[in-house]
Amino acid sequence: MKTLHFAIIGAGTAGLATAALLARQGFQVSIFEKAQHLDPVGAGLLLQPAGLAVFEHLGVLEHACQLGAKVTGLEGQLADGRLLVNSHYHEAGNHYTGLGIHRATLCHVLQTAVNQHRDAITWYMGYDIQQLQESPEQVRLIGQDAQQHPFDAAFDAVIVANGARSQLRPSAWVKIDQPYPWGAAWTIVPECQQFNREILHQFYDTSQIMIGILPTGAIPTAPEQRLSSVFWSWLCCTKLFLRASSAI
Ligand SMILES: Cc1cc2nc3c(=O)[nH]c(=O)nc-3n(C[C@H](O)[C@H](O)[C@H](O)COP(=O)(O)OP(=O)(O)OC[C@H]3O[C@@H](n4cnc5c(N)ncnc54)[C@H](O)[C@@H]3O)c2cc1C
Repeated sequence: MKTLHFAIIGAGTAGLATAALLARQGFQVSIFEKAQHLDPVGAGLLLQPAGLAVFEHLGVLEHACQLGAKVTGLEGQLADGRLLVNSHYHEAGNHYTGLGIHRATLCHVLQTAVNQHRDAITWYMGYDIQQLQESPEQVRLIGQDAQQHPFDAAFDAVIVANGARSQLRPSAWVKIDQPYPWGAAWTIVPECQQFNREILHQFYDTSQIMIGILPTGAIPTAPEQRLSSVFWSWLCCTKLFLRASSAI
């Protein structure tokens, strides 16, 4: 029987994880990434138990936990010291935790999973896919390579994993497509020792300003240096509360 050949557009978190999972199931995979090199953008992020379950499937959970930072809960303080948010993973189940992780580490851990399947996965770096053409037998990817030469190839199936601003998803599937009305500025600092190192701390000033400190673990090239992400955000209280609640 013919081995199905998947194209994955985008080598972000979703694309890399999907590539490893498909290759492990015996499929051929081609990854198309617009950037010429995999350079993580941004600071640390918090992975929820569902994301950690995917790591477990991929066989990289232990590696991720060694580099990342266990997060047991979120505490959000008002200016007068009262806790507006006081949510802890154990409330959902004793075995649940989050994992604070640097984006470079997340990228590294997922690449480790992908590299376990070198025979099944082909990389196309610098390929910008601009259009998909579907027929009952195949789907064609149309775009250009790093030298801006036209590119056109057919696959049995395609995974569109090119991020929140993707123009390749069928428009009928997109229910909400609008920029967030708030932003955030981030920096990475040596691990903050003043607070509980297993808690995501947030501090709110009225309903407008939030500063947070996320345990972020280490990057693969300096595993001894533990880090924290410090972020500043400007948003309205209702959105803040909904986001904070959904993070736990
Ligand atoms: C400030 C901030 C904080 C966040 N905090 C968290 C958090 O704490 N926890 C959490 O789980 N999530 C967090 N997120 C969200 C998280 O970063 C995203 O959900 C996640 O990165 C999405 O991954 P993705 O693989 O879908 O897309 P991306 O990571 O955006 O990857 C898409 C890839 O596709 C490539 N690409 C784009 N267009 C094309 C094309 N035409 N052809 C080929 N390649 C293309 C891009 O170059 C990119 O590499 C945060 C996001 C932000 C902005």
